[in-house]
Formats: sequence, C-alpha cells, structure tokens
Amino acid sequence: MSFNKVIGQDLAADLLKKAIEDNRLAHAYLFIGPEGVGKSLLAGIFAKALNCEKKETSPCEECISCKKISSGIHPDVATILPEGKSLRIGIDSIRKMEASMSLKPYEARTKVFIIDGADSMTEESANSLLKTLEEPPKDTVMILLASNLFKMQPTIISRCQKVLFHPLSERSIMKELVERYGLDEKKALCIARFSEGRLGKAVEVIEGRALEDRNRIIDDFLSPKQAGYEDTWLYGEPRDKVNEALNALAVYFRDLLVFGLSGDEKLLVNLDKAADIARDSAKFSAEKLEAIISSIAAAQEEIRRNANIKIALSFMRLNIT
Ligand SMILES: [Zn+2]
Repeated sequence: MSFNKVIGQDLAADLLKKAIEDNRLAHAYLFIGPEGVGKSLLAGIFAKALNCEKKETSPCEECISCKKISSGIHPDVATILPEGKSLRIGIDSIRKMEASMSLKPYEARTKVFIIDGADSMTEESANSLLKTLEEPPKDTVMILLASNLFKMQPTIISRCQKVLFHPLSERSIMKELVERYGLDEKKALCIARFSEGRLGKAVEVIEGRALEDRNRIIDDFLSPKQAGYEDTWLYGEPRDKVNEALNALAVYFRDLLVFGLSGDEKLLVNLDKAADIARDSAKFSAEKLEAIISSIAAAQEEIRRNANIKIALSFMRLNIT
C-alpha cells in the first residue's frame, strides 16, 4: 500500500515521503488528529517504507520486511497500545520499549516504535519517555499517535515533529464507501454523515455494530424499562466506548432540535432515523432539548474525569426524563 492510499491525508503523507526521499528523519513524530482518520495506517506504511528491501519511497508490500511488518512480527517494529481497565499506557510498556531500543536492530535499517494512544500515557510513562526523547537512540524512529493534545505534556509535544491529520469531507468518505463496499449513494451518505469525518468510524459502522449500539443507547434513554434504571448495558463498558455512545446520544438529541426548528430531514446526521426523529422531536421543547444536550456533555466530562459511570449516567438520566 502506498502513501497515497491513505484517503484525505495528503499533507501528512507528503511530509513523511519527503523525509524519506531527503533522508532527513526526525527521531520522533507526533501524529495528531481524531480517531479513525488514518494515523495508524500511515504509521505502518512509514515503518515499512523505512525498512523495505526495495529502498523506494513507498513500501513494496512484497519483500520479507514489508510482510513481517504487515503481520506484526517484525522484531524491530513494535506498537504499544493502552492496556487494562483504565486503558492507559503504563510504565511497564514504556520500560520494555526503552529496553529494546537500547539493543542493536536484528534486521531493520531503522527500528520503529509506534505509541498508539500517546495521550493516554500515565505521568510516570510520560516522564520516562521524555528522557528517551532527550537522548534518542540511533537508527530509531518513534511515532506517537494522539487525538487529544491537552492530555499530553508540552515538553513531549515540543520534542516531536508534528504531523497533522484532518477529518475527511463527507464527499470523500461517501466516495470511498461506494467504491470499497459497493454501497448505493443514499446509504453511503447516511453512514458518511454519521461517522463525522472519520473513515475508520464509517468502516466500523459497516463491519461492526456502531449503529446497533446507537439504537440501544437511544432506546435505553428514551424509553426506559418500567422496572427502573438498573439495566443500562453501558455500565460495564470501557470508558471510551461509553463516551462514544454518549456522543451518539447527544447527536440524536441535536437532530431532534434541528428537526424541531427547521423541519428539514436533509439537515439530520442520523438520516436513517428520520421517521423516529420527526416523531420524537414533537415530544420536547427546544429549551428542554438544549438542557438535555448539555447534561449529556456534563456526564461525558464527569466520565472523562474518572467519575463512576453508573452514577454519572443515572444523574444524566434524571435530567433527560
Ligand atoms: Zn518491501
């Protein structure tokens, strides 16, 4: 897969290609952008290009090095991911990475370490990584992937070369969905809109359960069971999934507001639920909808600050019903 295959991220791809062509590599790159826009895809292509046996700018995908990297078994290319219930990158992962950096490469020209979710490093991890960034080992490239710079130490950010990733346009996602999955344009538009500029999200919608999850949370909160509020499926889910579901809920209520004010189905994000939205929007005043949307945002903030998920959601529900 060549650099140009990463849809909509030409600037980022060109910057990395040029670094290889000019043989001017930074020790560390920081890929910044929302989830699902191609950061880890491009990091993988970069790692392959740096080690491809054909030594051209784009990886050949056929040599042993490219194949090993694609299947995640190259001894000199590693990806570190958040772990555990809190989904953080802990000190053990960082120390393990630093230990393997200090060794000579087994077979690579350039060792590559990808830290996917660099904004979820613990403070201890970040401090340790900072020392490595201050004295980077030779023939090694670190690639940090992050969506939220506010969660990162400024000293780390300043020691990396920044590479910006952007949300994609609705058109380009739609085009990709039509080409890749053979969807008709109406369905492709509906999914492109729902995925809000993230191709990864759109693929998840098609291949996974994102729309099902959205329907579940809307049902949970708009038609709660008679028995009470004890059975919300979200209580046991990881925080980022709860956050994603609350986003979907907030967007649904925003659609109710938009439809109530405009009566125009074309403006909706949840195009596939236009009939439900027309029905539900009559049940709430604009003021009520605004209050609901801000209480969802407040619950998201609480959950981000590590509040108990059940308490935050129960409190939010009091404001919805
Ligand atoms: Zn190759």
